[in-house]
Amino acid sequence: MTIKKVNPESGERPETEVVHVGRKPFEQHGFVNTPVYRGSTVLYPTLEALNTRTQPYTYGRRATPTTHALEEAIAQLEGGTATILTSSGLAAISTAILALVNSGDHILIVDSVYQPARAFADKMLKRLGVETTYYDPLIGSGIAKLFRPNTRLVMVEAPGSQTFEMQDIPAIAAAAHAKNIWVLADNTWATPLYCKPLALGADVSIQAATKYIVGHADAMLGAVTVNERAAKFVDSAKEALGTCPGSEETYLGLRGLRTLAVRLERHQRSGIAVAQWLQDRPEVDRVLHPALPGDPGHAIWKRDFSGACGLFTAVLKPTSEKALAAFLDGLKFFGMGYSWGGYESLVVPFDPSPYRTATRWDGPGPALRFHVGLEAVDDLIADLAAGFERMKNA
Ligand SMILES: *Cc1c(COP(=O)(O)O)cnc(C)c1O
Repeated sequence: MTIKKVNPESGERPETEVVHVGRKPFEQHGFVNTPVYRGSTVLYPTLEALNTRTQPYTYGRRATPTTHALEEAIAQLEGGTATILTSSGLAAISTAILALVNSGDHILIVDSVYQPARAFADKMLKRLGVETTYYDPLIGSGIAKLFRPNTRLVMVEAPGSQTFEMQDIPAIAAAAHAKNIWVLADNTWATPLYCKPLALGADVSIQAATKYIVGHADAMLGAVTVNERAAKFVDSAKEALGTCPGSEETYLGLRGLRTLAVRLERHQRSGIAVAQWLQDRPEVDRVLHPALPGDPGHAIWKRDFSGACGLFTAVLKPTSEKALAAFLDGLKFFGMGYSWGGYESLVVPFDPSPYRTATRWDGPGPALRFHVGLEAVDDLIADLAAGFERMKNA
């Protein structure tokens, strides 16, 4: 029995690929899932084997058959040369940046980047002598104006965290590559099923696998996928930093991956339905969701992405803190909490104005980031309708 290598180029679908990628049942007695290999020590049968280190596994931190299975799967889905796993999505970002920059370099990060990535740049990178400039997510090829002789890397994230601006990744990558500058993309929102940043010109694509790949809010996990040019830098940073995920977390990533396509389809459909319903509510100023036809980023989303997940923002009209609390505190199905990508619906209020520096946030009222989960969409809408009723009476 041969390994089922799915070939999207010959018309085989991503939903099929995600089920079969990275699995070798007949190398493990026919059991369909790669088991959890726990381990630090790996034994070498001879002195020669120890000296040459030619066996596939040499130490637990480096790789196990479990980490290999997920790395192979994500590399294939992202269309990369290789993937390395990290202990979290934030560790994927920090490992990738530390792999590619040197002291004295300048880097460009999108203003709408995942906020803790900004803290990494402003605190640690600054201390190591790397200067960061934040740029407007809508800059496109205008990014070239910000390049300095020592600019080494551009980080993109589409759509932007919290505010969902779409970025023109091909235009930014073309400008960067003309100057030999690395392009790093945070591809967590789309997952490797709905966007392929390496095909759009990025050199490195990271995933907070904590979100949709794990998919059940029960593990922290990250992945860095590289093209050929970036591979040796990222591999050497992984070695130097000692970043590796736990065995159980890796297994949960593999397990989540198998149902990613079917979960995402539902998150997408319900997310758009809830977003459209919110758009028509009198309490809502606007909804930020690139899959909505009226969204400013819709044309780029349609060009570069093949789908949307369940995460978007609704900006409310001005309202009191008391009314907002009445809305949020009484919700039955939407939990209030960070992270997203699991099966349940979530909501968090946010205000990006204290940390955005290249753009100005102009929400007239509170902004709410919704993650639409796998519940029946009518139940979710009824929950929100009851919330708006409480808001009115507060
Ligand atoms: C959550 C998130 C991360 C970080 O992932 P963790 O696993 O929580 O460290 C990175 N990027 C984006 C866009 C995220 O939403």
